Amino acid sequence: MPQITFYKHDPIPLEMHKVRIVQKLNLLPTDERLQKIKDSGYNTFQLHNSDIFLDMLTDSGVNAMSDDMESAMLRADDAYAGSESYFRMEKKLQELFGIQYCLPAHQGRACENILATRFVKPGSCVIMNYHFTTAKAHITRLGGRVEELVHSCGFYKHKARDIVLACQMLLSDYGGKVPGSMEELLRLPGVGRKTANLLLGDLYQAPGSVVCDTHCIRISNRLGLAVGKEPEKVEKQLRAVLPPEESSAFCHRIVLHGRAVCTARSPKCGQCTLSPWCSMANGN
Ligand code: SF4
Repeated sequence: MPQITFYKHDPIPLEMHKVRIVQKLNLLPTDERLQKIKDSGYNTFQLHNSDIFLDMLTDSGVNAMSDDMESAMLRADDAYAGSESYFRMEKKLQELFGIQYCLPAHQGRACENILATRFVKPGSCVIMNYHFTTAKAHITRLGGRVEELVHSCGFYKHKARDIVLACQMLLSDYGGKVPGSMEELLRLPGVGRKTANLLLGDLYQAPGSVVCDTHCIRISNRLGLAVGKEPEKVEKQLRAVLPPEESSAFCHRIVLHGRAVCTARSPKCGQCTLSPWCSMANGN
């Protein structure tokens, strides 16, 4: 995205398109808007659009269309059967997902209902990064539970994007299987040495896997097993001293130790079973 700034160098947020169609909005006084909301029974579906200033219910896709989208609509073949638009879409889906058959359906409630009824059983766990309210309702109605997997993580938008890209690469480059070498794992979007070592240790029981996270770095330094904060250097130092077949389990234990005993702010050295061997506790 290009950057331009005001004369004092404050950045100007840029959107690389211009809006050519405008629609008049209505802004009711606050008390009138509150009354409308109350009259609707606090149900957004009962409100009249003419009483709404900022519509955050309707999908963004129906609010604005690009010139490409508008022109594609003119080119669209909307025949009931044998439509060229359908064949173009089918070809693109096959190319993207490698599937032979597809059944186009709108994302709306009926489609959510069909999919949820087909796939969700009592006790099913349905994972997503963000659930639409109606999708969530269909899942819970059928006894399933929803999990917002990465929403609570920092940078969850980037992580969600990387998960999708990594899954696509797993399908396209690795036949749907998580690869078993450091070089191959590092090609996956969002995967660094920490995650790669974790996968090698947990999935492949690869000897010498050292998962260098923040706990590992802190405690290794306190114990005197490593010096420095750079993950790659700490990983190398630990690999030199840990028995290869123990290194992965060691890192899992050290994370638990870091959460329960050797915390970042106030290590409980008096209760720590490692204190006889710990450099920090022994003043070294
Ligand atoms: S003795 Fe203290 S600093 Fe050393 S590992 Fe235990 S809690 Fe951490």
